[in-house]
Amino acid sequence: MTNYKLKKSICLFCSLGCGVCFRVDGERVTQIDYDGDNPVNNGSLCPRGHYNLELIEHPGRLSDPMIGSRKASWEEAMANIRSKIKDADPSTIGILLSGMASNEEALLAGKLARALGIKNIASAGDPSDLEAYEGTKLETPVCSLGKVGEIDSVEALLIVGDILTRSPVLSQRINRVKYGKRGNKIIVIDPNRSHTSWFATNHLKPRPGCEAALLAGMIKVISEDNGKGPVDLELEQVAEITGIPSSSIIGAAREFNCAASGFVLFAPSAGKSRNDLIKYLTRVICDLSPNKKQAAFYSFGNTLGVNVILDRTVEARTSFPEFKEKIKSGEIMNLILLGDNVFAGDPDIEKKLERMNLLAFSSIFPQKIYQNAQITLPLASHLEEGGSFKLADGRVETIEPVVGKAGRRSNSDIITSLLNFNDEDREKLKAEAYELAGKGPLMQKANPAEKIAESLESSPKEEYPIENITHFGNNDLVRNFFWFRANNRSKA
Ligand code: SF4
Repeated sequence: MTNYKLKKSICLFCSLGCGVCFRVDGERVTQIDYDGDNPVNNGSLCPRGHYNLELIEHPGRLSDPMIGSRKASWEEAMANIRSKIKDADPSTIGILLSGMASNEEALLAGKLARALGIKNIASAGDPSDLEAYEGTKLETPVCSLGKVGEIDSVEALLIVGDILTRSPVLSQRINRVKYGKRGNKIIVIDPNRSHTSWFATNHLKPRPGCEAALLAGMIKVISEDNGKGPVDLELEQVAEITGIPSSSIIGAAREFNCAASGFVLFAPSAGKSRNDLIKYLTRVICDLSPNKKQAAFYSFGNTLGVNVILDRTVEARTSFPEFKEKIKSGEIMNLILLGDNVFAGDPDIEKKLERMNLLAFSSIFPQKIYQNAQITLPLASHLEEGGSFKLADGRVETIEPVVGKAGRRSNSDIITSLLNFNDEDREKLKAEAYELAGKGPLMQKANPAEKIAESLESSPKEEYPIENITHFGNNDLVRNFFWFRANNRSKA
């Protein structure tokens, strides 16, 4: 008889954060299983979610620290990093933390930055997600962030982008809205036909990159219909920019506004202009229209938590775009990359990485562009470390390790070693990280009229956007998985 235990965790391949379950036999995970009790996904997993097993059991995982091309002990590798950063000018040091890192790891990374006196600390991740995150920080009167569990009971969905490529498991909820009650509306804003637009009762296809302008037009209709004040905007101008007739803009705005309840789902992507404005404007719509909620879904599970905690820990820190520029200009010469290869395909940065004074990176899998790294650290995944994570709808989930780390270390272990923290410090840190993540972003004042004017200026894209994610891969990590290797040999 098979003797296994079931252990629960969550998937971080997108910020929906579905529950997953593993069959564990001693220290080995033998199979991925379904977590039918998890209210987020009720046992469903998308194709990407099934690959969580490979974060633990993939035979190609890194297992030994390396200095150059030789194996080293953890002590030697960490001493090497310590000695290089000890002598470096703080302005030349940069720390980049994966968007799948836990809240505790983000807090530790922030503390390390403070201890070293550096501002060059950023969250890695999809650049369009990081742009959208900026839109969460612009103040609106009401906090309209909705919970995943609320999505399927509303009467109208307004979906910006192909949300089902990002978070396929949401299809069960969208389906329930579509077939739940006669008259329910699903309005999809996307220049392309997609998996998501298949569900649409009203598919608006603006010119690529004009989503923000279209939302601004809808805001005008909703604000004026609801007696919330005039919006200085010509609908005919919006129609000209977006290619959507003003009658269709009015119709879509009223469909959403008149529904007794509604939810805006947003998938940031490189095909859109100004993901930050789109995020902000979806929140404005929810403020103006009664009983409406919204959430953006990111491609790295803890995008929200990592950014919120870094913002709250390191004042005036460097943004991800600035961080990249500082590498290109040679200002950052000592780089600690914790958990992700986000520079693949950027030849300017790849060249600079070859000439760093210090290039240390922790990684689950070998990554080609870092073959010149001085120090490589085999990373334990969140399934082996546990921690807390702030998902798309603001809920903070805490998970326990599924199995041991088998000689690898987590980013928490690595930073703790650089900070000389002890176990007691780390216990206290858990409560602090959980509390900080729960607080949400640090808000900034915003002028709605200015933002609406900016949305009309956001440039249309020349070509139809090619979404930069698929069901199987949204980053270099996932591209190590067997499906990807078998089907994309030239790219792997
Ligand atoms: S929808 Fe997102 S969180 Fe859920 S299984 Fe797929 S990738 Fe993981």
